[in-house]
Amino acid sequence: MPRCAIYARVSDDVQVKGESIEHQISFCQEIARRRTVETGETWTVADSLTYVDEGITGTSLVKRAEVQRLIRDARADRFDVVLFKGISRFARDTVDALIMLRTLLACGVRVISIEENFDSQRDQAEFVFTIHSALAQAESEKTAIRVRMGALQKARQGKWNGPPPEGYRLNPLTKRLDIDPDAAPVIRDIFDLYLRGYGFRKIARILNDRGQSTKQGHPWTQRRIGRILSNPAYVGDVAYGRRERKIAVPDDGELLSRRKTTVWVKNRDAAIVCRDAHPAIVDRDTFERVAARLVQRRERSPNGSKAQLLSGLLACSCGSSMVTHYNAHGTRYYRCAGRAKHGRAFCNQPFVRADDVESFVVREASAHAHVQDPANIAGGDMRSWLQHVIQRVTVDHGEFQMTYRPS
Ligand SMILES: [Zn+2]
Repeated sequence: MPRCAIYARVSDDVQVKGESIEHQISFCQEIARRRTVETGETWTVADSLTYVDEGITGTSLVKRAEVQRLIRDARADRFDVVLFKGISRFARDTVDALIMLRTLLACGVRVISIEENFDSQRDQAEFVFTIHSALAQAESEKTAIRVRMGALQKARQGKWNGPPPEGYRLNPLTKRLDIDPDAAPVIRDIFDLYLRGYGFRKIARILNDRGQSTKQGHPWTQRRIGRILSNPAYVGDVAYGRRERKIAVPDDGELLSRRKTTVWVKNRDAAIVCRDAHPAIVDRDTFERVAARLVQRRERSPNGSKAQLLSGLLACSCGSSMVTHYNAHGTRYYRCAGRAKHGRAFCNQPFVRADDVESFVVREASAHAHVQDPANIAGGDMRSWLQHVIQRVTVDHGEFQMTYRPS
């Protein structure tokens, strides 16, 4: 009497979108019923042995909670057979699929994929399975390319793909963007505030303090502000291919934790496929001035007094030095040089926000040296003053330990 488990997954692949979890499960249940009739053995399916992954985009195979439960239960001998509708449902690509198959087979579980008529009990199971999953992967890549080409075509005609950006709404007839009169003023405010010298974080705080939120009711974050300031949609242009989905393999060689990430392509202008496709919220001059500032901010010279305020002073608890690092939005961090070089397996010290640690260190050093107002120490001299007072600041997962020079 084989005890069956069912595995179903919502996929982010375009190919299989729109096919519900319920459908996958009832399909598998039906197959179990048919096998019962055909073989004369009772193929049982318990509800507790139904595993559903809600397809959290970008989650790696090993981290999916239901995959873990499936494998745990397989090891505990809770079932004999795993049923799933098709290999494209089982795993995202050939590598993931093989890892899953081998793990389940090692637990002594029989694996059946219904669409491909695959059954691990037959000969050459791994070989046949690999062919099937490679075909499934090729098919899904082909579909993805087709969808991308269609979207590019649409973008070239000035039509908008996906949800409209903040400040716009989608015109269902023209498929182009129309200005949303309620939300557009906030966008102009953001560009204006940035040109007046406010940073992303400050702008977000100003808007939130005013009680303004995004159209979807989310609070403003520095990430959102950064995206808005660099989005060419606001001057009326349609861009395509600014972002790309890739499978990222972390540098510490943890192959199993690879996941899909969104990366930004380097040349923003190359991605503009239709100019003046819809009404602008921000004029080109303003947008260009903002773009120039964004570049400046990103490329701020490492010799600038601010960029290096704590370099040479800040050490990671692993013994490496902490060096400055800008993320894609221009936010400055200090990170462990050992981790940057050898990966997270070497050291897992999180990045620390440069503004946070710098203001903390200045405050502590001032208190230690009885300096009333550190602002009186002129910008360039702040660094030499700190080096005069402090021997070392050690960073250990959010804790800072200050070692002072003997006075
Ligand atoms: Zn470290």
